[in-house]
Amino acid sequence: MQVKGSFQLMKSLNRSVILNKIRTDGPISRADIAKETHLTPPTVSSIVKELLETGMIKESSQGVSKGGRKPTMLIINASNFYIIGLDVGPTLMKSVLTDLNGTLVTESQTPIPQPTSNDELLELMKVTVQQLIASQQGKQDKIIGIGVGMHGVVDVEEGVSLFAPNLQLQDIYIKDFLEEEFGILVKVENDARAMALGELWFGNGNGAENIVTVNLGRGIGAGIIINGKLFHGENSIAGEIGHMTIDIRGPKCSCGNYGCLQTLASGPALAEKAAREIAIGKQSLLQDMVDNNLEEIGGRLIHEAAKKGDQLSIDILKEAGLYLGIGLTNLIHTLNPNRIIIGGGVSQAGEFLLDSVKTTIQSRGLTKSAKNTEVLLSKLGANATALGAVSLILVELFSRTDTD
Ligand SMILES: [Zn+2]
Repeated sequence: MQVKGSFQLMKSLNRSVILNKIRTDGPISRADIAKETHLTPPTVSSIVKELLETGMIKESSQGVSKGGRKPTMLIINASNFYIIGLDVGPTLMKSVLTDLNGTLVTESQTPIPQPTSNDELLELMKVTVQQLIASQQGKQDKIIGIGVGMHGVVDVEEGVSLFAPNLQLQDIYIKDFLEEEFGILVKVENDARAMALGELWFGNGNGAENIVTVNLGRGIGAGIIINGKLFHGENSIAGEIGHMTIDIRGPKCSCGNYGCLQTLASGPALAEKAAREIAIGKQSLLQDMVDNNLEEIGGRLIHEAAKKGDQLSIDILKEAGLYLGIGLTNLIHTLNPNRIIIGGGVSQAGEFLLDSVKTTIQSRGLTKSAKNTEVLLSKLGANATALGAVSLILVELFSRTDTD
Protein backbone atom coordinates (compact mmCIF):
# COMPACT_ATOMS: atom_id res chain seq x y z
CA MET A 1 0.00 0.00 0.00
CA GLN A 2 1.91 3.00 -1.24
CA VAL A 3 0.77 6.46 -0.22
CA LYS A 4 0.80 8.56 -3.37
CA GLY A 5 1.76 11.90 -1.94
CA SER A 6 0.78 15.15 -3.58
CA PHE A 7 3.49 16.70 -1.52
CA GLN A 8 7.17 15.86 -1.13
CA LEU A 9 8.79 16.72 2.18
CA MET A 10 10.66 19.97 2.02
CA LYS A 11 14.20 19.44 0.84
CA SER A 12 15.25 23.03 0.72
CA LEU A 13 16.49 25.06 3.60
CA ASN A 14 14.79 28.25 2.37
CA ARG A 15 11.42 26.55 2.11
CA SER A 16 11.86 25.16 5.59
CA VAL A 17 12.81 28.59 6.97
CA ILE A 18 9.77 30.24 5.38
CA LEU A 19 7.44 27.47 6.46
CA ASN A 20 8.69 27.70 10.02
CA LYS A 21 8.32 31.47 10.03
CA ILE A 22 4.69 31.11 8.97
CA ARG A 23 4.16 28.42 11.61
CA THR A 24 5.57 30.45 14.48
CA ASP A 25 4.50 33.96 13.43
CA GLY A 26 1.51 33.47 11.14
CA PRO A 27 -0.66 35.15 10.04
CA ILE A 28 2.25 36.94 8.40
CA SER A 29 2.66 38.82 5.13
CA ARG A 30 5.17 38.03 2.39
CA ALA A 31 6.92 41.33 3.06
CA ASP A 32 7.38 40.56 6.75
CA ILE A 33 8.66 37.06 5.97
CA ALA A 34 11.30 38.59 3.70
CA LYS A 35 12.23 41.20 6.27
CA GLU A 36 12.57 38.75 9.13
CA THR A 37 14.27 35.87 7.31
CA HIS A 38 16.60 38.09 5.28
CA LEU A 39 15.53 36.29 2.11
CA THR A 40 14.90 38.42 -0.97
CA PRO A 41 11.26 39.29 -1.76
CA PRO A 42 11.38 37.38 -5.12
CA THR A 43 12.68 34.25 -3.33
CA VAL A 44 9.92 34.52 -0.74
CA SER A 45 7.31 35.08 -3.45
CA SER A 46 8.27 32.07 -5.50
CA ILE A 47 8.54 29.72 -2.52
CA VAL A 48 5.23 30.98 -1.10
CA LYS A 49 3.61 30.35 -4.48
CA GLU A 50 4.93 26.79 -4.43
CA LEU A 51 3.73 26.24 -0.84
CA LEU A 52 0.28 27.57 -1.72
CA GLU A 53 0.11 25.15 -4.65
CA THR A 54 0.92 22.17 -2.44
CA GLY A 55 -1.74 23.24 0.05
CA MET A 56 0.79 23.39 2.86
CA ILE A 57 -0.08 27.02 3.59
CA LYS A 58 -3.12 29.15 2.82
CA GLU A 59 -4.04 32.81 2.61
CA SER A 60 -6.00 34.12 5.55
CA SER A 61 -7.78 37.42 6.11
CA GLN A 62 -6.04 40.53 4.94
CA GLY A 63 -3.62 42.33 7.22
CA VAL A 64 -3.48 45.95 8.23
CA SER A 65 -2.20 48.23 5.52
CA LYS A 66 0.78 50.42 6.24
CA GLY A 67 -0.34 52.69 3.44
CA GLY A 68 -1.32 51.29 0.05
CA ARG A 69 -2.87 47.92 -0.65
CA LYS A 70 -3.65 45.65 2.31
CA PRO A 71 -1.16 42.74 2.41
CA THR A 72 -2.41 39.16 2.14
CA MET A 73 -1.59 37.17 5.26
CA LEU A 74 -0.33 33.58 5.22
CA ILE A 75 -0.95 30.75 7.68
CA ILE A 76 -0.13 27.03 7.87
CA ASN A 77 -2.89 24.89 6.43
CA ALA A 78 -2.54 22.53 9.38
CA SER A 79 -5.64 20.44 8.86
CA ASN A 80 -4.78 19.72 5.24
CA PHE A 81 -2.02 17.20 6.08
CA TYR A 82 -1.61 14.30 8.45
CA ILE A 83 1.17 12.54 10.29
CA ILE A 84 1.15 9.10 11.87
CA GLY A 85 2.86 8.45 15.21
CA LEU A 86 3.56 5.01 16.70
CA ASP A 87 4.58 4.32 20.27
CA VAL A 88 6.05 0.83 20.49
CA GLY A 89 6.22 -0.05 24.17
CA PRO A 90 7.00 -3.29 25.98
CA THR A 91 3.43 -4.63 25.77
CA LEU A 92 1.36 -2.18 23.71
CA MET A 93 1.58 -0.40 20.39
CA LYS A 94 -0.21 2.95 20.55
CA SER A 95 -0.86 4.85 17.37
CA VAL A 96 -2.18 8.29 16.51
CA LEU A 97 -2.99 10.20 13.36
CA THR A 98 -2.82 13.96 13.78
CA ASP A 99 -2.83 17.11 11.72
CA LEU A 100 0.18 19.42 11.57
CA ASN A 101 -0.82 21.06 14.87
CA GLY A 102 -0.69 17.71 16.62
CA THR A 103 -4.47 17.70 16.91
CA LEU A 104 -5.67 14.12 17.28
CA VAL A 105 -7.76 12.86 14.38
CA THR A 106 -7.82 9.20 15.32
CA GLU A 107 -5.98 6.85 17.69
CA SER A 108 -5.78 3.17 18.50
CA GLN A 109 -3.87 0.68 20.56
CA THR A 110 -2.93 -2.94 19.97
CA PRO A 111 -1.39 -5.45 22.35
CA ILE A 112 1.98 -6.80 21.21
CA PRO A 113 1.91 -10.62 21.29
CA GLN A 114 4.53 -12.06 23.67
CA PRO A 115 6.96 -13.39 22.73
CA THR A 116 7.25 -11.73 19.33
CA SER A 117 9.78 -11.69 16.48
CA ASN A 118 11.20 -8.88 14.34
CA ASP A 119 8.97 -9.88 11.43
CA GLU A 120 5.84 -10.13 13.57
CA LEU A 121 6.47 -6.74 15.12
CA LEU A 122 7.04 -5.11 11.69
CA GLU A 123 3.88 -6.76 10.38
CA LEU A 124 1.94 -5.38 13.35
CA MET A 125 3.26 -1.88 12.59
CA LYS A 126 2.29 -2.31 8.95
CA VAL A 127 -1.26 -3.38 9.76
CA THR A 128 -1.64 -0.58 12.29
CA VAL A 129 -0.51 2.05 9.78
CA GLN A 130 -2.74 0.53 7.07
CA GLN A 131 -5.75 0.85 9.36
CA LEU A 132 -4.96 4.47 10.17
CA ILE A 133 -4.55 5.28 6.48
CA ALA A 134 -7.74 3.43 5.58
CA SER A 135 -9.63 5.50 8.18
CA GLN A 136 -8.86 8.63 6.11
CA GLN A 137 -10.95 7.80 3.04
CA GLY A 138 -10.04 10.00 0.10
CA LYS A 139 -7.31 11.81 1.99
CA GLN A 140 -4.61 9.14 1.90
CA ASP A 141 -2.35 11.35 -0.18
CA LYS A 142 -2.33 13.94 2.62
CA ILE A 143 -0.33 11.70 4.97
CA ILE A 144 3.25 12.93 4.84
CA GLY A 145 5.19 10.77 7.26
CA ILE A 146 5.36 8.15 9.98
CA GLY A 147 7.22 8.70 13.24
CA VAL A 148 8.07 5.78 15.50
CA GLY A 149 8.95 6.01 19.20
CA MET A 150 10.59 2.73 20.18
CA HIS A 151 11.70 1.68 23.65
CA GLY A 152 15.35 0.68 23.98
CA VAL A 153 18.41 1.64 21.94
CA VAL A 154 17.75 3.13 18.50
CA ASP A 155 20.06 3.97 15.60
CA VAL A 156 18.37 7.20 14.60
CA GLU A 157 20.27 7.72 11.32
CA GLU A 158 19.34 4.29 9.95
CA GLY A 159 16.00 4.02 11.73
CA VAL A 160 16.93 0.68 13.30
CA SER A 161 15.89 -0.57 16.73
CA LEU A 162 19.25 -1.98 17.87
CA PHE A 163 17.99 -3.45 21.13
CA ALA A 164 14.47 -3.57 22.53
CA PRO A 165 15.10 -5.21 25.93
CA ASN A 166 11.49 -5.64 27.01
CA LEU A 167 10.62 -7.48 23.79
CA GLN A 168 14.01 -9.25 23.66
CA LEU A 169 14.50 -8.17 20.05
CA GLN A 170 17.50 -6.81 18.17
CA ASP A 171 18.24 -5.09 14.86
CA ILE A 172 14.71 -4.33 13.66
CA TYR A 173 14.95 -2.36 10.39
CA ILE A 174 11.86 -0.24 10.98
CA LYS A 175 12.59 2.71 8.69
CA ASP A 176 13.56 0.63 5.63
CA PHE A 177 10.55 -1.63 6.06
CA LEU A 178 7.90 1.08 6.49
CA GLU A 179 9.36 3.38 3.81
CA GLU A 180 9.38 0.51 1.33
CA GLU A 181 5.84 -0.41 2.31
CA PHE A 182 4.24 3.05 2.26
CA GLY A 183 6.56 5.28 0.25
CA ILE A 184 6.60 8.17 2.74
CA LEU A 185 9.19 9.49 5.17
CA VAL A 186 9.77 7.40 8.30
CA LYS A 187 11.74 8.52 11.37
CA VAL A 188 12.55 6.30 14.35
CA GLU A 189 13.63 7.50 17.80
CA ASN A 190 13.96 6.18 21.33
CA ASP A 191 10.64 6.59 23.17
CA ALA A 192 11.88 8.86 25.97
CA ARG A 193 13.51 11.17 23.42
CA ALA A 194 10.44 11.18 21.22
CA MET A 195 8.45 12.15 24.31
CA ALA A 196 10.82 15.05 24.98
CA LEU A 197 10.34 16.32 21.47
CA GLY A 198 6.58 15.94 21.82
CA GLU A 199 6.67 18.09 24.97
CA LEU A 200 8.71 20.69 23.12
CA TRP A 201 6.25 20.89 20.22
CA PHE A 202 2.89 20.31 21.86
CA GLY A 203 3.26 20.10 25.62
CA ASN A 204 4.78 21.79 28.62
CA GLY A 205 8.12 22.32 26.91
CA ASN A 206 6.81 25.13 24.77
CA GLY A 207 9.13 28.08 24.74
CA ALA A 208 11.99 26.39 26.61
CA GLU A 209 15.35 25.73 24.94
CA ASN A 210 16.86 23.44 27.58
CA ILE A 211 14.50 20.83 28.95
CA VAL A 212 14.69 17.33 30.31
CA THR A 213 11.70 15.03 30.23
CA VAL A 214 11.60 11.94 32.41
CA ASN A 215 9.61 8.90 31.37
CA LEU A 216 8.67 7.25 34.64
CA GLY A 217 7.13 3.84 34.12
CA ARG A 218 8.36 0.24 34.10
CA GLY A 219 11.79 1.74 33.48
CA ILE A 220 13.07 5.29 33.79
CA GLY A 221 14.50 7.17 30.83
CA ALA A 222 15.11 10.82 30.06
CA GLY A 223 14.95 12.85 26.87
CA ILE A 224 17.38 15.74 26.87
CA ILE A 225 16.88 18.83 24.75
CA ILE A 226 19.75 21.28 24.59
CA ASN A 227 19.41 24.53 22.66
CA GLY A 228 16.12 23.31 21.22
CA LYS A 229 17.58 20.05 19.87
CA LEU A 230 17.52 16.46 21.06
CA PHE A 231 20.81 15.37 22.57
CA HIS A 232 21.82 11.76 21.80
CA GLY A 233 25.40 11.55 23.05
CA GLU A 234 28.14 9.75 21.17
CA ASN A 235 26.52 6.31 21.27
CA SER A 236 22.89 7.12 21.99
CA ILE A 237 23.19 6.42 25.72
CA ALA A 238 22.47 9.99 26.84
CA GLY A 239 19.42 10.03 29.07
CA GLU A 240 19.68 6.52 30.53
CA ILE A 241 19.05 7.97 33.96
CA GLY A 242 17.26 4.83 35.15
CA HIS A 243 20.74 3.42 35.66
CA MET A 244 22.10 6.41 37.54
CA THR A 245 23.42 5.06 40.84
CA ILE A 246 21.52 6.56 43.77
CA ASP A 247 22.48 4.14 46.56
CA ILE A 248 25.52 1.88 46.15
CA ARG A 249 24.08 -0.40 48.83
CA GLY A 250 20.64 -0.46 47.19
CA PRO A 251 18.79 -3.30 45.45
CA LYS A 252 20.34 -5.13 42.50
CA CYS A 253 19.30 -3.79 39.08
CA SER A 254 18.68 -5.73 35.85
CA CYS A 255 21.87 -4.09 34.54
CA GLY A 256 23.96 -5.81 37.22
CA ASN A 257 24.71 -2.72 39.34
CA TYR A 258 23.22 -1.90 42.71
CA GLY A 259 20.91 0.95 43.70
CA CYS A 260 20.13 2.32 40.22
CA LEU A 261 17.33 4.93 40.21
CA GLN A 262 15.18 2.35 38.42
CA THR A 263 15.37 -0.02 41.41
CA LEU A 264 14.03 2.72 43.70
CA ALA A 265 11.44 4.72 41.77
CA SER A 266 10.07 2.71 38.80
CA GLY A 267 6.58 1.17 38.82
CA PRO A 268 7.81 -2.39 39.50
CA ALA A 269 10.13 -1.12 42.25
CA LEU A 270 7.21 0.55 44.06
CA ALA A 271 5.07 -2.57 43.67
CA GLU A 272 7.79 -4.81 45.10
CA LYS A 273 8.32 -2.48 48.00
CA ALA A 274 4.60 -2.46 48.83
CA ALA A 275 4.36 -6.25 48.63
CA ARG A 276 7.43 -6.63 50.88
CA GLU A 277 6.09 -4.26 53.54
CA ILE A 278 2.69 -5.98 53.59
CA ALA A 279 4.37 -9.42 53.78
CA ILE A 280 6.14 -8.38 56.98
CA GLY A 281 2.92 -7.18 58.54
CA LYS A 282 2.29 -3.55 57.50
CA GLN A 283 -1.40 -2.73 57.25
CA SER A 284 -2.58 -1.40 53.88
CA LEU A 285 -5.72 -1.05 51.79
CA LEU A 286 -3.72 -2.68 49.00
CA GLN A 287 -4.07 -6.05 50.65
CA ASP A 288 -7.85 -6.03 50.17
CA MET A 289 -7.63 -4.39 46.76
CA VAL A 290 -5.68 -7.39 45.39
CA ASP A 291 -7.45 -9.94 47.55
CA ASN A 292 -4.14 -10.88 49.17
CA ASN A 293 -2.48 -11.67 45.80
CA LEU A 294 0.43 -9.34 46.53
CA GLU A 295 2.06 -9.92 43.12
CA GLU A 296 -0.91 -8.12 41.56
CA ILE A 297 0.06 -4.83 43.18
CA GLY A 298 1.15 -2.31 40.57
CA GLY A 299 1.94 1.39 40.29
CA ARG A 300 -1.64 2.32 39.39
CA LEU A 301 -3.10 0.48 42.38
CA ILE A 302 -0.65 2.17 44.76
CA HIS A 303 -1.81 5.52 43.42
CA GLU A 304 -5.45 4.54 43.88
CA ALA A 305 -4.81 3.43 47.45
CA ALA A 306 -2.92 6.66 48.18
CA LYS A 307 -5.93 8.66 46.96
CA LYS A 308 -8.06 6.73 49.45
CA GLY A 309 -5.67 7.78 52.21
CA ASP A 310 -3.66 4.56 52.50
CA GLN A 311 -0.60 5.53 54.54
CA LEU A 312 1.73 2.81 53.21
CA SER A 313 1.00 3.84 49.60
CA ILE A 314 1.45 7.53 50.44
CA ASP A 315 4.79 6.79 52.11
CA ILE A 316 5.99 4.65 49.21
CA LEU A 317 5.18 7.38 46.66
CA LYS A 318 6.79 9.99 48.88
CA GLU A 319 9.95 7.93 49.17
CA ALA A 320 10.02 7.35 45.40
CA GLY A 321 9.77 11.14 45.04
CA LEU A 322 12.79 11.54 47.32
CA TYR A 323 14.92 9.16 45.20
CA LEU A 324 13.69 10.71 41.99
CA GLY A 325 14.43 14.16 43.44
CA ILE A 326 18.02 13.08 44.16
CA GLY A 327 18.38 11.78 40.60
CA LEU A 328 16.94 14.99 39.19
CA THR A 329 19.22 17.13 41.36
CA ASN A 330 22.19 15.26 39.85
CA LEU A 331 20.73 16.00 36.44
CA ILE A 332 20.24 19.68 37.29
CA HIS A 333 23.85 19.95 38.39
CA THR A 334 25.03 18.23 35.21
CA LEU A 335 22.83 19.88 32.57
CA ASN A 336 21.19 22.89 34.22
CA PRO A 337 17.89 22.66 32.32
CA ASN A 338 15.33 25.42 32.77
CA ARG A 339 12.52 22.88 33.07
CA ILE A 340 12.01 19.20 33.90
CA ILE A 341 8.83 17.47 32.75
CA ILE A 342 7.76 14.17 34.27
CA GLY A 343 5.59 11.77 32.28
CA GLY A 344 4.94 8.03 32.01
CA GLY A 345 2.73 5.67 34.00
CA VAL A 346 4.07 6.40 37.49
CA SER A 347 3.70 10.15 36.91
CA GLN A 348 -0.08 9.65 37.02
CA ALA A 349 0.47 9.62 40.79
CA GLY A 350 1.43 13.26 40.28
CA GLU A 351 0.44 15.06 43.45
CA PHE A 352 1.83 12.35 45.80
CA LEU A 353 5.17 12.26 44.00
CA LEU A 354 5.77 15.80 42.89
CA ASP A 355 5.79 17.50 46.30
CA SER A 356 8.50 15.20 47.54
CA VAL A 357 10.50 15.62 44.29
CA LYS A 358 10.34 19.40 44.64
CA THR A 359 11.23 19.41 48.36
CA THR A 360 14.26 17.23 47.63
CA ILE A 361 15.48 19.51 44.84
CA GLN A 362 14.88 22.53 47.08
CA SER A 363 17.00 21.10 49.85
CA ARG A 364 19.81 19.75 47.64
CA GLY A 365 20.17 22.22 44.79
CA LEU A 366 23.50 24.03 44.70
CA THR A 367 22.24 27.53 44.01
CA LYS A 368 18.96 29.37 44.30
CA SER A 369 18.26 28.90 40.61
CA ALA A 370 19.14 25.19 40.80
CA LYS A 371 16.74 24.79 43.75
CA ASN A 372 14.00 26.54 41.82
CA THR A 373 14.32 24.55 38.59
CA GLU A 374 10.79 24.17 37.34
CA VAL A 375 9.39 20.62 37.64
CA LEU A 376 6.09 19.91 35.89
CA LEU A 377 3.97 16.92 35.05
CA SER A 378 3.46 16.11 31.38
CA LYS A 379 0.13 17.29 30.03
CA LEU A 380 0.20 14.96 27.05
CA GLY A 381 -0.74 11.94 29.17
CA ALA A 382 -0.79 8.48 27.67
CA ASN A 383 -0.22 9.77 24.12
CA ALA A 384 2.99 11.64 24.97
CA THR A 385 5.30 9.25 23.13
CA ALA A 386 3.03 8.79 20.11
CA LEU A 387 2.71 12.58 19.77
CA GLY A 388 6.47 12.78 20.18
CA ALA A 389 6.77 10.38 17.26
CA VAL A 390 4.59 12.77 15.23
CA SER A 391 6.94 15.63 16.09
CA LEU A 392 9.87 13.66 14.58
CA ILE A 393 8.26 14.34 11.20
CA LEU A 394 7.45 17.97 12.06
CA VAL A 395 11.13 18.56 12.77
CA GLU A 396 11.91 17.36 9.24
CA LEU A 397 9.23 19.59 7.83
CA PHE A 398 9.85 22.79 9.73
CA SER A 399 13.28 22.76 11.29
CA ARG A 400 15.71 21.56 8.67
CA THR A 401 19.01 23.30 9.14
CA ASP A 402 20.87 21.72 6.22
CA THR A 403 20.16 21.49 2.52
CA ASP A 404 20.43 17.75 1.89
ZN1 LIG B 1 20.74 -0.39 36.45
